Amino acid sequence: MVRTHNLGFPRIGADRELKFAQEAYWKGQSSRDQLKAVGADLRCLNWDAHHGIDLIPVGDFSFYDQMLDMSFTLGNLPERVRGYRGDVLDNYFRVARGRSAPAAAGNDNPDGVAAGEMTKWFDTNYHYIVPEFRADTTFDLDASRLIEQIREATASGINVKPVIIGPVTYLALGKAKDDSGRLALLPRLLPVYLQLLEAIASEGVEWVQIDEAILVTELEPTWKQAFETAYQSLSSSRNKLLLTTYFGPLLENLSLVAGLPVAGVHLDAVNARDEVQALIEQLPADRVLSLGVINGRNIWKADLNGLLDWLEPVAKQLGDRLWIAPSCSLLHVPVDLDSEQKLDGEIKSWLAFAKQKLEELRTLKSALNDGRDAVRAQLDANQAALQSRRQSPRVNNPTVKAAVAEITSQLGQRKSLYALRATKQAAILKLPKYPTTTIGSFPQTAEIRRARSQFKAGTIDEATYRAAMQNEIARCVREQEALGLDVFVHGEAERNDMVEYFGEQLEGYAFSELGWVQSYGSRCVKPPILFGDISRPQAMTVKWIKYAQSLTKKPMKGMLTGPVTILNWSFVRDDQPRSVSCQQLALAIRAEVLDLEQAGVQIIQIDEAALREGLPLRRSQWQEYLTWAVDSYRICANGVKDETQIHTHMCYSEFNDIIAAIAQMDADAITIETSRSDMELLEVFETFNYPNQIGPGVYDIHSPNIPSEQQIIALMQKAAERIPSERLWVNPDCGLKTRQWEEVIPALTNMVSAARKLRAGDRSNT
Ligand code: GLN
Ligand code: ZN
Repeated sequence: MVRTHNLGFPRIGADRELKFAQEAYWKGQSSRDQLKAVGADLRCLNWDAHHGIDLIPVGDFSFYDQMLDMSFTLGNLPERVRGYRGDVLDNYFRVARGRSAPAAAGNDNPDGVAAGEMTKWFDTNYHYIVPEFRADTTFDLDASRLIEQIREATASGINVKPVIIGPVTYLALGKAKDDSGRLALLPRLLPVYLQLLEAIASEGVEWVQIDEAILVTELEPTWKQAFETAYQSLSSSRNKLLLTTYFGPLLENLSLVAGLPVAGVHLDAVNARDEVQALIEQLPADRVLSLGVINGRNIWKADLNGLLDWLEPVAKQLGDRLWIAPSCSLLHVPVDLDSEQKLDGEIKSWLAFAKQKLEELRTLKSALNDGRDAVRAQLDANQAALQSRRQSPRVNNPTVKAAVAEITSQLGQRKSLYALRATKQAAILKLPKYPTTTIGSFPQTAEIRRARSQFKAGTIDEATYRAAMQNEIARCVREQEALGLDVFVHGEAERNDMVEYFGEQLEGYAFSELGWVQSYGSRCVKPPILFGDISRPQAMTVKWIKYAQSLTKKPMKGMLTGPVTILNWSFVRDDQPRSVSCQQLALAIRAEVLDLEQAGVQIIQIDEAALREGLPLRRSQWQEYLTWAVDSYRICANGVKDETQIHTHMCYSEFNDIIAAIAQMDADAITIETSRSDMELLEVFETFNYPNQIGPGVYDIHSPNIPSEQQIIALMQKAAERIPSERLWVNPDCGLKTRQWEEVIPALTNMVSAARKLRAGDRSNT
């Protein structure tokens, strides 16, 4: 008999109950017990959602992050929070976010502590708290959180499968704070894992899920060896270990995985279906093989009949050894499609969120164990939904397909080389040296948000809304005039989000009301759903930019989000390659670029904030991604005349490994983030001769601090050591929408006066 299990479930709740409970607690508006009660309720609801699933994850719930949970379980607390005398949960929040609730201060410093570093969980948009290591790091088991939850689950009659992060992945995803090697800690770590497993076994638990997702990445030989050592050691535990890998194929690590002494292995069979037979051949005959057949990373219904065609023979081959599951934890999809009241019915019929994915799993199991007739109605409904999606004219737009088929490299090619363009642009724009500009958005005030939401709710009419936005644009222009900036922006008041704003105006996009996915801690995102061929019915930004330009003689930048960023921050189609969706987006935004140019806009900025985060997990696949990503950007941006200046913006500057690709985008100017790193990140420009203009950020917009004129001058002088000053711009790190006007005005005043001093200084030096 085939069994079902799940790797993890969203913890935020269908209505983001956890978010509101966390934030209330942090603000001192509720008690720790109230927060804990919300956690217990959510766990209960989540376990209920797993009815009929054979093994149910426990320990996947978290008050902030599963890696931080693991650090606390292993007693790996940063030095700065040891000795805290308050409650463990409060100390946990101190590492997570620098402080806990006001009432939990205990012996706390009123300024809190340095929060743990946060970084992306593999190639998802989930962020974890990075474990910190030193040469003298020791571990000390605290299994209480997990054991409590196991008891709680067992008491409610559930067949429990605790979930933990494996020791090798735990070390690999952490960071040494001195120059010690993390792997040296393995011998100290393994005994604590064995104690943890023993504690779990004492609860009468049979299976433990041990996540080792770094097995889908390229591993150094020493790390491969660490797997052998670790699992040899853990094989002495009384539990059965299910070694889980996800987010990609195993490739060269397949034999390593097959040979580890564990009771079962989970493979992401959505991404690595072609590895299943090899794994079956290599796995010893007593091992369980769990296949992740339901996609845990997207929101589409699975093709159940198609899966059964494939799985039925596998089930015959493996018998009881076959388990089925989602490909990865369902943390990365929204909770419940049934909560969506406004989503278009037809599109809704194509989707499955976490709860619906568990239902698909139950249907597959029944079909495999009892025959397809046992679930005929469900299978027929599934097939009908898939058919409707495949044939829908809303998905397929022959005009768009034809346009994509006609793409040539010519489309992404500027008419002249940069040097010639730069001369023509300079003649028109007449900018001073060290020109100053901002990245796009100005503070999003309460009035702006109110006007936007009233317009959305229909309580104000279009004319009133337009007047409110124009008012705001006029204010931004006035402020920029007063500041003396050189290149203006309209301020982006009409945009609540840089992707959603465009998605809402493009054909082929749908939006959920409650499709939230945890990004980190209490922060959630609601990715738009790219379901069909993308087209642009009409211009999206031109009227705003034209209005803004009409108020000033200074050049007004047209402001767009690039195709790669729109793609990377959406739920994307599974019926065509991402590269094709990206090309479609590129053509749609290209049309907007050309409309802006037509309307007389001289400078157009196309933000690619998410280009870097789309890099595949394996370096060997980077080039393929970069090729289509950069090609799409070029198609979007490079159709303009020589005289039109194209900018791009990226809010990071770890460019070392992708700088050549960035240069290939051939933007006339790029603005990047650098101020926090003291321009150190510009080191890449010492070895790579970046040919075009650069604006290294000099104002860290993530901080309320106001940079002084002197600091800005110092940063720009550092930049000028690496990039010829003729090609430098002076600008903040990123958009200003999360800041207050009271902070922005003095910061930009300093920025403008710093630029003037730099110009004067350069003149007196020559
Ligand atoms: N133009 C956008 C803004 O200023 C860019 C935001 C971003 O890079 N994340 O808000
Ligand atoms: Zn940015």
